[in-house]
Amino acid sequence: MEEREIEASPIRVAVVGAAGRMGREVLMAVHAADGLELVSAVDREHSGVNAREFGSKFPDLTIQPKLGAALDAAPADVLVDFSHASSAPGHAQSALKRGVSPVLGVTGMSDGDLRELGLQCRELGVPAMYVPNFAIGAVLMMRFAEIAARWMPDAEIIELHHDRKEDAPSGTAMRTAELIQRGRTGPAPSKPVPALKVPGARGANFQDVHIHSVRLRGLVAHQQVMFGGHGEVLTLRHDSMDRASFMEGVKLAVRSVRLLQGLTVGLESLLFD
Ligand code: NAD
Repeated sequence: MEEREIEASPIRVAVVGAAGRMGREVLMAVHAADGLELVSAVDREHSGVNAREFGSKFPDLTIQPKLGAALDAAPADVLVDFSHASSAPGHAQSALKRGVSPVLGVTGMSDGDLRELGLQCRELGVPAMYVPNFAIGAVLMMRFAEIAARWMPDAEIIELHHDRKEDAPSGTAMRTAELIQRGRTGPAPSKPVPALKVPGARGANFQDVHIHSVRLRGLVAHQQVMFGGHGEVLTLRHDSMDRASFMEGVKLAVRSVRLLQGLTVGLESLLFD
């Protein structure tokens, strides 16, 4: 599609996982956004329900049960997926073969899934994004953590989420640990080995970073990264107080994805390059 055409007409957006916690937020955000047009809402639950029943800020759109049929009935440019990691590869394939760019927000996709998705994007010439965290502040926190790791390689992550989150550690915590490891170009981290009175007391060890996962009612999505030095501690903290915090990132990805090539992971390249 020509860039001129992309700018002139609204970007048609389909949402899968539309009746879930994140999906509902996306329905409201896309419905209210300039230059975006919500064309279908898909979820295996609440099928046949009009989204207006969720509240007055929702679009007048009936929830469809099947993604393929919905994309055939109402052509889209971008598919936003907040369903489940087990369904996301199939959804992405369904979108790509119709020339629709997937923006995947589900967490817990495997490296193999992402490799396969990247190959499909190249083969079909349709770009896609996989974004484990859409909150701009969280992306900045990860960037700052990578910078700090060069000078303060001893780091621990405490990630805190609501009690219905299925995976642990969070995708954001694992990505942060990878970036810390990548940023450790200076002194090596020290490796204390305390005697554990209770197994697991030191949390999970991923990329030589200990990650502690808290799951509690009342929380949304929060992360603290602590760096220890000689007589000093640096703490980076990010809090998503509300699911609305993810929506600026979702809209940025929806507006940008068709201008990219292949599979882009994370919002970083849109924010920093
Ligand atoms: P949720 O359980 O509230 O919603 C998921 C919805 O998807 C449900 O309504 C379910 O019926 C639907 N669904 C599942 N499989 C489906 C399928 N095959 N076809 C159609 N619909 C299907 O979950 P949630 O809290 O909204 O989170 C969804 C995902 O988003 C999770 O993976 C979560 O970790 C992730 N998440 C990502 C970010 C981010 O910034 N990337 C932020 C928050 C949550």
